[in-house]
Amino acid sequence: MTAEIVAVGTELLMGQILNTNAHFIAQRLAGAGVNHYFQTVVGDNPARLTQTLALALTRAEIVIVTGGLGPTGDDLTKETAAALFHRELRYDAESLKALEDRFFRMGREMTPNNLKQAMFPEGAIILKNDNGTAPGCILEQNGRAIALLPGPPREMQPMFEEQVLPYIAKKESGGIFYSRVARIFGVGESAVEFRLKELIESQNNPTIAPYALTGEVTLRITARCKTETEGEALIAPVLDEITAILGDAVYSTSNEALHEVCGRLLTEKGITLSVAESCTGGLIASTIVSMPGSSAFFTEGVVTYSNGAKERRLDVSEETLARFGAVSRETALEMAYGMRESAKSDVALSVTGIAGPDGGSAEKPVGLVYIGVAEASGATAHELRLSGGRERIRHMAMLHALDLLRRKLKE
Ligand code: AMP
Ligand code: MG
Repeated sequence: MTAEIVAVGTELLMGQILNTNAHFIAQRLAGAGVNHYFQTVVGDNPARLTQTLALALTRAEIVIVTGGLGPTGDDLTKETAAALFHRELRYDAESLKALEDRFFRMGREMTPNNLKQAMFPEGAIILKNDNGTAPGCILEQNGRAIALLPGPPREMQPMFEEQVLPYIAKKESGGIFYSRVARIFGVGESAVEFRLKELIESQNNPTIAPYALTGEVTLRITARCKTETEGEALIAPVLDEITAILGDAVYSTSNEALHEVCGRLLTEKGITLSVAESCTGGLIASTIVSMPGSSAFFTEGVVTYSNGAKERRLDVSEETLARFGAVSRETALEMAYGMRESAKSDVALSVTGIAGPDGGSAEKPVGLVYIGVAEASGATAHELRLSGGRERIRHMAMLHALDLLRRKLKE
């Protein structure tokens, strides 16, 4: 099947927001092996939208449209698509009820323009929206379809994943798309692609689609199949092969983030954790705490930015700081050790580094980071040489610290 993406919104044309919807949908289409050759951005203008949809329908079997489903006057996508297919807009009783319930639950008054969100072109397949007020819909005519999805990514993404992709899979083969996501840390994107080149090229069911997050690579492996069990059977050997090639750089085959893997291992093993952070400024603690259930293993985190704070809170010796500097293996070790002692946790992590852009020297350049890990059996420190701007260095330091922890927990 051939798909095409149309993003509607004058704010996109004006550069006020980034077209992340096209990015997301494109990734998912590629992952599922659905052909897709054009993307368009068009403003909130019925004539130009009509022209865009009509053209897209000459090229694609399904046109996926996002935006313009809101209650306000400039939201005209449904009206425009209905007119193109010569359909009237009608109330959908179920959507109307869901909309009323939602406003009631939120204690907000429903204004007449909200009612519009319960109206759909005749014969439309309605896509329910559990994350907002605007349901989407799919219109079919002459073997072609237009899917209308809401603009806000947090509403659009689950709707696309849970309702549009299954629609496409069913149309294509009468089956489903089933996917698993492998996550990789410590091997760069190009190295992953290079090492998996043969595997990726020799596969067509399942397909393997790589994409990079900051410092990480993910692989979405998607099977076209009749059932989830069949999908699992197609995907499992591919995941095994990926793991055999990339080794323990593959930290999850079920789309868990690094902190989630660490959290799961800590919980399973009943191990408690504390963290002492300098250049990451609480990023590690915050990332850990973003995970529900982290209170089971996370005891505390401190941000010791100055030398004085490292001495007072973590008992790092003045001599160590004077002799080796705040960014050194020795300081990282003492920070981890001191954190573990004071928190009485089983494991403590520490981070100290130069995030830049200033503060580097020939001997200690920007991006030099030390990570300490203290356990009952002793403490170790690891040197990293990171590149990029301040935010990237802080983010990478966080990921490396979590990855070290993961490796320790696996031992
Ligand atoms: P709309 O449904 O057109 O009123 O869009 C509602 C909101 O969704 C906009 O204000 C944006 O914040 C967001 N949005 C709309 N289209 C996109 C897009 N293509 N990519 C990312 N966000 C979008
Ligand atoms: Mg809009």
